[in-house]
Amino acid sequence: MTEDAARSEAPALEMRGITKRYPGVVANDHIDLDLRRGEIHALLGENGAGKTTLMNVLYGLARPDEGTILMDGKQIQIAGPSDAIARGISMVHQHFMLVPVLSVAENVILGAETMSNAVFVDRHEASRRIGALAERFGFDLNPDAKVGSLSVGQQQRVEILKALYRDARVLVLDEPTAVLTPNETEEIFGLLRRLAGDGRSIVFISHKLYEVLEVADRITIIRRGRVIGERRPSETTEEELAELMVGREVELTVDRGESHVAGPVLVVEGLRVADDRHHEVVPGATFEIRAGEILGVAGVAGNGQDELVQALIGLRRSTGGKVTLAGRDVTGFSPRRMNEAGVGYVPGDRQRFGLILAFPVYDNLILTSYYRPPFAHGLIRNDSAILESAAVQIERFDIRTPSARASSSTLSGGNQQKVVVAREFDRELKLLILDQPTRGLDVGSIEFIHRQIIAKRDAGTAVLLVSAELDEVMEMSDRIAVMYRGRIVAELDGRTADKSEVGLLMATGGHEQATTQEEVRA
Ligand code: ATP
Repeated sequence: MTEDAARSEAPALEMRGITKRYPGVVANDHIDLDLRRGEIHALLGENGAGKTTLMNVLYGLARPDEGTILMDGKQIQIAGPSDAIARGISMVHQHFMLVPVLSVAENVILGAETMSNAVFVDRHEASRRIGALAERFGFDLNPDAKVGSLSVGQQQRVEILKALYRDARVLVLDEPTAVLTPNETEEIFGLLRRLAGDGRSIVFISHKLYEVLEVADRITIIRRGRVIGERRPSETTEEELAELMVGREVELTVDRGESHVAGPVLVVEGLRVADDRHHEVVPGATFEIRAGEILGVAGVAGNGQDELVQALIGLRRSTGGKVTLAGRDVTGFSPRRMNEAGVGYVPGDRQRFGLILAFPVYDNLILTSYYRPPFAHGLIRNDSAILESAAVQIERFDIRTPSARASSSTLSGGNQQKVVVAREFDRELKLLILDQPTRGLDVGSIEFIHRQIIAKRDAGTAVLLVSAELDEVMEMSDRIAVMYRGRIVAELDGRTADKSEVGLLMATGGHEQATTQEEVRA
């Protein structure tokens, strides 16, 4: 065989014996991974298993301590992201890196054109090329639209378009479906298949096992920095994948048991909330949650759930209405006063509202209680009490960190979420507000957190669960409220509600079924 022929049969990309150590942890331990042309290769592993680290090595963001990377059979050194991009490797991160005030076309050419031609950018030509690319892959995107006005799903397409514009042959998508609706997910899968059909290699990272089984050609499973196995979707099941990832059997469905509901805890009457642009996005929400029950809010992202939750917890001022907690008027309370009134809160955006990333783990664990005993007496901070309590929580919530002193920014995304959950769950609560509590978590951690939520409910806490995961809402909720354009359009019994019915209500607001809140109650 000639050298060229050998090369064309070689995998598009190979990572051999990749090892990456961080203080106190081997994030990647001699990992081998090969990517073929035209394949969708899923990377599975629990939180902190080392998936992102491996991809950072591939993208030149982290320098491996050992190991080699081969492209088309030839060894390469990747100096940094721009070198990776120049070699045809692109990455779509969990947190998009787009400039909202610029157009789609401007975002796509940002970085790419300045590299080849720093002085002069032919915008018309760029816009035309972007339009043609978008059309070829079936994207519904206007190159001149401002990115800030696009939905999350469309913004993600802009990120993918950026990669295609730079002619990526290897495309890494880190949890691309975490923020998408079921429809958008189907669309993105269609797109990934077209890209693979075009001969590109796709790395797909996800915690959703059914998605991995649906879209991947091959699955590599990593546990604690090592490759544990490789499977094809046709020869495995969700149960087996979960067990491979976590190293033990995992219950994929929730046993929520009986709820023992008592009197009302949270009573919301005609609450009105505006968004940042002063549009009233919640035009008058009325509902209540009783002690010992979970009220799940189902709805397509962007139907006022964020604003409603922010108003309830005091992060956003309401423009009308009343909120009562255990008989006390708490309308307009600040987050700290809500916390002191016995409200726990897990925010949807943990990096913005849940954590101070630069702080060590132990400080984040007491972010809402640092000024109270036993952590402080007057102005005196009690470090040994803080560290002692942190050690207990790290153990109890299985937070994977080399130490309580590690900076929270070095934790994997899922473990950052566990820090927030540990802090908020670890005391007696009247009300627990959960916004996307398991986003980005692995199956084992989801199982654990779901059990903790049920335990809180059974201890008499009223729970508000807002989640973009319809399955999570269906499985966990005693009652389900469907939100559509800022209104609660239906309230259903969690035990008898039908998933497709809820899905339809989410999509249409019940206009096709004429189901209203009043009718369901009657
Ligand atoms: P998740 O599913 O939660 O995103 P992951 O599989 O992507 O997890 P990584 O982010 O790769 O996991 O983390 C692997 C390990 O390496 C973790 O223990 C993490 O704390 C550690 N780690 C990652 N980056 C750094 C860093 N810059 N400094 C120190 N430790 C790090």
